[in-house]
Amino acid sequence: MGESETDCIFCKIVAGEIPSEFLYEDDDCVVFNDANPKTKTHLLILPKKHIPTIADLEEGDEKIMGHLIMVAKNLAAEMNLAGYQLQINVGRDGGQEVFHVHIHLMSKF
Ligand code: AMP
Ligand code: ZN
Repeated sequence: MGESETDCIFCKIVAGEIPSEFLYEDDDCVVFNDANPKTKTHLLILPKKHIPTIADLEEGDEKIMGHLIMVAKNLAAEMNLAGYQLQINVGRDGGQEVFHVHIHLMSKF
């Protein structure tokens, strides 16, 4: 289940093979705008490491997942968002379309 790293669209974005504007980047994650925003602000926060879904998380991945939430919190504060939603879709039946773990940061502000 899930795509391999070689044909993963988010791995290609991380590698710079598909041009994208990063709103934030560090050693472990990148953030960019969702191509099809559902709210005024709709960012995707993802690890550089290819992890297909939350169901594939392994021992040690809690560090990166915690880091993604800290990045979300810091960006939301920088953007002065009054409130927001963090959403992770898990598996096809959970609405997941891209099989590289990501957190949606959505806000009507
Ligand atoms: P999910 O349903 O949680 O897997 O969400 C995947 C999200 O990725 C959707 O909201 C898409 O609009 C978004 N998306 C797909 N391809 C791209 C892309 N190339 N650049 C930015 N966002 C994308
Ligand atoms: Zn990937």
